[in-house]
Amino acid sequence: MVLNIAIIGGGIGGLTAAIALRQKGCSVTLFEQAPEIGEVGAGLQISVNAVRVLRALGLKPQSWLCNKPANITLHDYKEGDLVARVAMNTTVDLPYLQFHRADLISELMQAAIAADVTLKLGKQVSVSMNNPDGVDVDGQRFDLVVGADGVRSSVRDQFYDAQKPRFTGQIAWRALVSMADLPSEFSTSSRVFMGPKKHMVTYPLRDGNLINLVAVEERDEWADEGWNYAGDPDELRRLFAGWCNDATTLLAHVNSPIVWGLFAHPPLHNWVKNRAVLLGDSAHPMVPFVAQGACMAIEDAWVLADQLAKTPDLAMALQNYQDIRKPRTTKVQETALKSGRIYHVSNPLTRKVLHTGMRLSSVAAPSIMAGHYDWIYNHDVTAH
Ligand SMILES: Cc1cc2nc3c(=O)[nH]c(=O)nc-3n(C[C@H](O)[C@H](O)[C@H](O)COP(=O)(O)OP(=O)(O)OC[C@H]3O[C@@H](n4cnc5c(N)ncnc54)[C@H](O)[C@@H]3O)c2cc1C
Repeated sequence: MVLNIAIIGGGIGGLTAAIALRQKGCSVTLFEQAPEIGEVGAGLQISVNAVRVLRALGLKPQSWLCNKPANITLHDYKEGDLVARVAMNTTVDLPYLQFHRADLISELMQAAIAADVTLKLGKQVSVSMNNPDGVDVDGQRFDLVVGADGVRSSVRDQFYDAQKPRFTGQIAWRALVSMADLPSEFSTSSRVFMGPKKHMVTYPLRDGNLINLVAVEERDEWADEGWNYAGDPDELRRLFAGWCNDATTLLAHVNSPIVWGLFAHPPLHNWVKNRAVLLGDSAHPMVPFVAQGACMAIEDAWVLADQLAKTPDLAMALQNYQDIRKPRTTKVQETALKSGRIYHVSNPLTRKVLHTGMRLSSVAAPSIMAGHYDWIYNHDVTAH
């Protein structure tokens, strides 16, 4: 089906969908509220399942500016002891990638421009879905609108069962630290430090010149500061006081962290309403503890374009897209929450038992440890 499509949102999901839909012959106009397409200064991990999609779109993500870890190590927060080493089981063609978000967005935007996507920037649009024959966006009529407008989606607000995202009880502190200030091992290691009700993730970016930090803490309430704001680095250091040397060294060099409330809502019943469809965080926001939110948006983009291309009836194509994607994204949402609970065990005895079990299986059966998320990484939406 060749359609005239409006995409709302120029994040990773919206840009990937724009490229995929153009390749299927649709005409695509992408509306982004920001005056420029960009991203927060932070890292982003793209696993093999999403790399497959980018490659199938003719892109070469493995050659973009990124880090390619062979494994990720898990550590206890206090002594920094190694708890487990998880091999990413990647190949040269299908690596696990760690990007500066701005670098990934810039590559996707260039690909969208090369594919003749019409970009309309600085446009916070609203959508009128009352007409059964089309959708009106910014005074223009389209056959279909794709809501790729993130966790606070205004397109989703128009759905029958729309749910406002709720605070998950977790907040993420994000910062980038110059490698010039740090010991050399930071530039080659991707680590997770697990402590009571908190964890920290660190990995290198931009040829090891920058270190990405995400520090997550549980909080009962989210005050009214907005959903992201400039944080106080001393407060961050206080929150993680008493953590191991490497964690403390990294925290000592954090200057301007951003504090990010993690919001989500339970799975929606409908991702489709008449001629509107949701994709990425607008459909299935998730906590970032298996690093899959953007990867799922990239998979969504492929499946949506594929279904629209091969199903002659629009309503059926959209229903097929939802039916294919919802079970997988719901399972990933649940897995991410569970992963947070494992990282954050606060009872010292339970933590000791859990870490000992992880340590033993990482040594005795590394493939089982690595295979834990095979159902995520080995999935190939481009094969169907
Ligand atoms: C701390 C943290 C770490 C993470 N790490 C990872 C990771 O390692 N790997 C991973 O896969 N995922 C990760 N994620 C999740 C990932 O960031 C998101 O899932 C992903 O960015 C969602 O992409 P999206 O395109 O759906 O939405 P967004 O990136 O939110 O993009 C939505 C876009 O829509 C625009 N917009 C909104 N409303 C309108 C409007 N009315 N009109 C026009 N434009 C509009 C916004 O400006 C924005 O550009 C992480 C998340 C967090 C918080």
